[in-house]
Amino acid sequence: LVSRKTRKEDTVILLPGDVVVGGSASVMVAGPCSIESEQQTRAVAAALQKAGVRVMRGGAFKPRTSPYDFQGLGMDGLRILREAADEYGLLTISEIVDPAHIEPSLDYVDIIQIGARNMQNFELLKAAGEVNKPVLLKRGLAATMEEFLHAAEYIMSRGNTQVMLIERGIRTYEKWTRNTLDISAVPILKQESHLPVLVDVTHSTGRKDILAPCAKAALAAGADGIMVEVHPDPATALSDAAQQLNFDEFNTFFDEVKASGLYR
Ligand code: PEP
Ligand code: MN
Repeated sequence: LVSRKTRKEDTVILLPGDVVVGGSASVMVAGPCSIESEQQTRAVAAALQKAGVRVMRGGAFKPRTSPYDFQGLGMDGLRILREAADEYGLLTISEIVDPAHIEPSLDYVDIIQIGARNMQNFELLKAAGEVNKPVLLKRGLAATMEEFLHAAEYIMSRGNTQVMLIERGIRTYEKWTRNTLDISAVPILKQESHLPVLVDVTHSTGRKDILAPCAKAALAAGADGIMVEVHPDPATALSDAAQQLNFDEFNTFFDEVKASGLYR
């Protein structure tokens, strides 16, 4: 179902408010790593609205490497995200990690995110395949293209055809970036599949100084959109403090990406 062989035309995902993912327009998905508070989330929503961003991300269920790190606000976080987004006319995307939370999340998210660590959580993929809600599937930490597309197939095989793929970096021996951004994944996925393909520049690189060139490279390679993390005061962030952009940095980043002419 994911294959270009079964469907020649690009899949275009229609979101509320006439926001589209795939096709002729690029999409910028931005927001904090974690939903931390109402105040923090509303501040980001206001900044994103001002910048012309339509889709706000924010993690409520955080898959942290250490059990002692901030685990997210859970359903409260989803509520805070929804309220802030509604106040500023934005759409929401948030990671769901438990199949039992798929149904309850439908009131709060416009897009369900499945995280890299859960790309092969097959029960979660099946649950996401059973609802009528767009899903953004992240590439696993060390997933091959074939495994990635099979994971998308799990969702689609349950009836949900609104699937988007996102490259978020893979594990390699390289230490100067958090992960290695696999730009070649973009044209390969676009060729092999009809689904929209995005690139998460924050988690793939883990460093702020190369976000703009990486976003431009992604768009030049055919990506339909970019994901980037934005926080009012990154130094105090409860997760990914080292790599989130503050509002000024985000505006500079987005301006540079738009000025390239690659953002449609
Ligand atoms: C995220 O986007 O919040 C996240 C945890 O990313 P990943 O699943 O790609 O590590
Ligand atoms: Mn993060």
